[in-house]
Amino acid sequence: MSEFFGHLIDGREVESVDGRRFDSMNPYTQQTWAQAAWGGQADVDAALDAARRAFDSGPWPHMDPQERQKVLRRFSEAMMDHAHDLARLDTMDMGKPTPQALVDVERSAWNIRFFADHQVMATGEAYPMGSGHHAYSLYQPAGVVVAIAPWNFPLMMESWKVAPALAWGNTVVLKPSEFTPASAVLFAKLALEAGIPAGVFNVVQGYGETGALLTADPRVDRITFTGESTTGKAIQAAASKNLVPVSLELGGKGANIVFDDADLDNATDWAVQAIFRNAGQVCLAGSRLFLQRGIYDQFLATFQAKAEALRIGDPMAPGVDFGPLSSDVHYAKVSGFVNSVEAEGGRILTGGLGEGLFVKPTIIVDLPLTASQYCKEIFGPVVVVNAFDTEDEVVHLANDTQYGLNAMVFTENLSRAHRVSARLRAGTVWVNCFFIRDLRAPFGGVGASGIGREGGNFSREFFTEPKAVVMQITRDSGGGRP
Ligand code: NAD
Repeated sequence: MSEFFGHLIDGREVESVDGRRFDSMNPYTQQTWAQAAWGGQADVDAALDAARRAFDSGPWPHMDPQERQKVLRRFSEAMMDHAHDLARLDTMDMGKPTPQALVDVERSAWNIRFFADHQVMATGEAYPMGSGHHAYSLYQPAGVVVAIAPWNFPLMMESWKVAPALAWGNTVVLKPSEFTPASAVLFAKLALEAGIPAGVFNVVQGYGETGALLTADPRVDRITFTGESTTGKAIQAAASKNLVPVSLELGGKGANIVFDDADLDNATDWAVQAIFRNAGQVCLAGSRLFLQRGIYDQFLATFQAKAEALRIGDPMAPGVDFGPLSSDVHYAKVSGFVNSVEAEGGRILTGGLGEGLFVKPTIIVDLPLTASQYCKEIFGPVVVVNAFDTEDEVVHLANDTQYGLNAMVFTENLSRAHRVSARLRAGTVWVNCFFIRDLRAPFGGVGASGIGREGGNFSREFFTEPKAVVMQITRDSGGGRP
């Protein structure tokens, strides 16, 4: 008997109004393990109406920030209490090894906790005008937020959007990916249990068509989206019809640059994480690896050995580092890139296709810079390696892409680290590490990698309407009289 995951609307888990459902496949067993409600216009209407009501006449937007902090902290704690349940759902839906799913839960709970605290600690601005007047800023909730999430870090991406939206007093309608409907339902139920009022946090399940209904709707005040760049363009077009602000976190083709003077043990460890963690299904993946000529052979040999040592298998089994790709649909895309490596002039040093929906950790060399594997986002465990000689050359290579989400630089030379970081066209640059986040820092991408930044005050900018209040202190000060 498969499990069922409904919509969560106005505090209740419900079927679709027309009863439609879709299947979710476990990519390891390739069997349907769950069904989810399939949202249509009636379900979208119900969720948006609930969110609108909760915003217009519920307590949440006007709640004392410290009270909201208490509720959100309880929510975060409840997530940690249910960490294994939440992790299991993501592993079943998309094949992420359970230890990695557990790290995602921890980071998701931290997202909730961080923004709960941030909205209490954040300060506004005051502008003494010296003219008998005084201005200050107010950050007020924007309204109904639609959050649309991808499948690669289901809970983590959802919480990254839901946390600041709720913390700043908005109400939310979340649409999880059709490939990962499960964890969002428990996530939203835990919010209710923690005391978030019904209607404040709703979930509507469904495919892209359901997302399109949400993003085209005039009842919406903000749209926050993470997913493919092409989908981002469609969402921006839909949002522009209603003049709704969008935050778009899109695809990537991260450059991982290793200079001759790098700590090679550290750099090879991170390079493995950067492309093979989550089976490479990471927007921030270091999918283009640039090695300075002097360490090319030595680095590649160690990197290959570490890649081949990854334990591949059942993502539920203990000790497994590397699971299958998330779905048959995604496997078809990634395997297409792998199958055409030789035809495009490259060579697979190690890896290739495995059993079932597995693509082994794959390292490609000798590939022309015009090849699709080098230019396009593969979103799998596939890295293209190239040599370089000079700093100028590698900065040019790294920046020569439509994407600009992130880059990594490995060097022990402090001046070079700062110099190259400043020259890279990317929303985030990691020096001698990868994937470490400070939630106060801006997060987002350049070019086809997105529009806008989230994190700390950047999230506040997006999820609130900043207002200026100008007050007269005295009528007698000259300037500014009517
Ligand atoms: P996707 O764009 O196919 O789908 C993402 C979500 O959008 C899903 O919920 C989907 O149902 C919905 N959707 C699809 N069409 C829609 C439409 N027309 N209107 C509204 N919603 C629609 O992306 P995906 O395959 O789920 O995720 C992988 C992509 O996400 C990769 O490109 C990856 O780089 C990117 N990603 C980016 C970040 C980041 O922070 N920049 C993080 C994770 C993933």
